[in-house]
Amino acid sequence: MNTISFADLKLAPEILKALTDSGYTTPTPVQAQAIPLVLEGCDLMAGAQTGTGKTAAFVLPMLQKMLPLASGSASPARHPVRALILVPTRELAIQVEESVKTYAKHCKLRSLVVFGGVDIKTQTPHLKRGVEILVATPGRLLDHIEMKSVQLNQVQMLVLDEADRMLDMGFMPDLKRILALLPKQRQNLMFSATFSNEIKKLSADFLTSPRLIEVARSNATAENVTQKVYLVEQAGKHALLAQLLRGSDASQVLVFTKTKLTASRLAKQLQRDGFAADAIHGDKTQLERIQALDAFKQGKVTVLIGTDVAARGLDIDQLPMVINYEIPHAPEDYVHRIGRTGRAGASGKAISLVSPEEEKYLKEIENLIKREIEKETAAVPHAARTSRAPRGEHHERSHAPQGERHERSHAPRPSAHKKPSHDPWFDKPYEPSGSATAVAQQPAQPASKPKKQVAAILVRRQG
Ligand code: AMP
Repeated sequence: MNTISFADLKLAPEILKALTDSGYTTPTPVQAQAIPLVLEGCDLMAGAQTGTGKTAAFVLPMLQKMLPLASGSASPARHPVRALILVPTRELAIQVEESVKTYAKHCKLRSLVVFGGVDIKTQTPHLKRGVEILVATPGRLLDHIEMKSVQLNQVQMLVLDEADRMLDMGFMPDLKRILALLPKQRQNLMFSATFSNEIKKLSADFLTSPRLIEVARSNATAENVTQKVYLVEQAGKHALLAQLLRGSDASQVLVFTKTKLTASRLAKQLQRDGFAADAIHGDKTQLERIQALDAFKQGKVTVLIGTDVAARGLDIDQLPMVINYEIPHAPEDYVHRIGRTGRAGASGKAISLVSPEEEKYLKEIENLIKREIEKETAAVPHAARTSRAPRGEHHERSHAPQGERHERSHAPRPSAHKKPSHDPWFDKPYEPSGSATAVAQQPAQPASKPKKQVAAILVRRQG
């Protein structure tokens, strides 16, 4: 476990206090990576999108660097623009400046936001009073420069936020004009959700020996997640999964399937095997999903099976294990999925069951994450292989006797209706319950029900 705190990042007490006020205790990965580099004075090219905490990743070290220059004086001359944050849209501009204000609330540093679409005259007096940190959209900033309401000759730090979007929106000429007005000696930070060739060119043009960090979904997987692949025939997956779920480290597991149908069927099969399993996916009603997730958080359900839709919004800290029952065909989805574990510095395990037909997708994933995942061949005995693997169209009807059927005690089925593919409830941070581990190994079935014996022999693969 390599959880670091904001204090470990050597941030000033004024900044730490603001973070505590905001309720933030642990830096997000982009913050943990970016803050030390920015404090060192490096130029930075960061692959991070909204939602990763990227704003604080540049604002916090920026404030720290500006702090010695903070002044209580009313004179505009004592408050020159020292940091310029360029953003593509008005909405982002407002959001970023709100963050600056929040984190700077105990610092004597001024900030302001300027963007187009509003009367420029309302912005000018504020600019003229002097601000150390200016958040701006490029076009409006140029208007102010032309009106001489702002000077940029003391800018020490430049941030291009959502640089890819700025390029998409055709801001390149404006950016060039602005950058030409800045002092040559300055620190440059660029944040982008994607690393297109245009972005690479922009970074080559404007950054000096930049340090590269990537936390975006595109191609980064957390270091603290142990990844492993079991090579297994499709028909042997169910038995192997059951075996893995019986392992001591499988106290709470999120299992991914490609389709909703497989998720539902797998959940039913695992329930019959004696696991406290449930499915969560876009075809369930909101109530059902909330109940399933709640039961998972409380440890009543120890195996939650979902599709990629569930992965996108699901924010579960300290989830110990993710299993890909089927690997996704879009390699980015793999990164999304395994990002459900090992969050906030906790360690996690990501296991993928890969059939021969899926090996080509595995290659693509390995190319994307730029690493080879450890592989082991799972030899599943014939008897186990013939067990009811949820093979979509080949799925047999359940032969389980009535008494064996697991009834979801917590889920009175509300009338089925389609709900939105994402609901904000899933974004609530996960709080592991104290009882989770204790309940984890208990089957959902009545105690009298014998566990079905499933076996899978694991054979280590050479190389
Ligand atoms: P951003 O990616 O900068 O748009 O931030 C996404 C959200 O995460 C914002 O609502 C921030 O307030 C929040 N946030 C930023 N840093 C942290 C942190 N270290 N801990 C918890 N929440 C954070």
